[in-house]
Amino acid sequence: MGSVVISLDAELGWGFHDRPELPEHHIESGRRAWTYLRESFDRLDIKATWAITGHLFLESCRSSHRGHPAGRRCCTRETASLTPERIWFARDRIEAVRASAVDHEIGSHGFTHVHFRHEKMSEEFAARELEASVEAAADCGIELSSFVFPVNRIDHTELLAEHGFTCYRGASPAKSGRLAKLASATIGTPAPPLVEPRVDEYGLVDVPASLFLFNFEGVARSAVTSVGRDPVVKQATRGIDNAVENDGVFHMWCHPHNLRTDRDFERIDAILEYLHRRRLESDLRVETMAEVAERVRSRRARI
Ligand SMILES: [Zn+2]
Ligand SMILES: [Zn+2]
Repeated sequence: MGSVVISLDAELGWGFHDRPELPEHHIESGRRAWTYLRESFDRLDIKATWAITGHLFLESCRSSHRGHPAGRRCCTRETASLTPERIWFARDRIEAVRASAVDHEIGSHGFTHVHFRHEKMSEEFAARELEASVEAAADCGIELSSFVFPVNRIDHTELLAEHGFTCYRGASPAKSGRLAKLASATIGTPAPPLVEPRVDEYGLVDVPASLFLFNFEGVARSAVTSVGRDPVVKQATRGIDNAVENDGVFHMWCHPHNLRTDRDFERIDAILEYLHRRRLESDLRVETMAEVAERVRSRRARI
């Protein structure tokens, strides 16, 4: 019997800080879906790891953000219809997740979403990003354990351990391999992998991803099919079944801003409802990344 983990990369404007034009509709979608997901999780009693960009924890900011790739005072940037408060801050959304009936985990997704292999991401910059994230969360009474690397670029891992993190989301073993693509083209829907979390050389637990719920192919293909034939729903349900029958972790993830059209919301509803149903009729567990890390580390300590 395995378990299912859901992680969310919640970043609002920070996910687009490197764009010359900030995509208002994506940022607003991110806010809307943030609330929608929280309510869906409440309704179905499903917990998730919310990896949230650290700057969103702030109520206001006086930092100059010197040396930031998006420029000085980047968090004062606004758009025609969005104030800086709606783009770069989200304490209300974070408080709402904390106040949920479900025991979610709040983790980190960097402080300003500069990815960890960016040319400006020196060790010093990375340490500042982590330190600022930990501080901003602590101000809200939250202790961070899980880290999701912005844009999934994994680097400076040793610094995570130094800043008190216990785990991170590693790369999916199935990630865009030629064979996986070939299988997808010939048999339609490959089963996403169950992953085996492992302790790395810094004592951190790598909880790899199994399935991104809005991969390009899935989006394109589902646009012409009903939700019942949505290839991503099929993959997710096969992954959930796999976790019911076998050991290992089925780890799904997405960004709230991926949910834009009715079809996107139908996809998420279908997956969450299936998970809810399968859990009721089996011993399947739903865990947060931090819970997986704790389980893996304590099992290792016993060996
Ligand atoms: Zn700021
Ligand atoms: Zn991100």
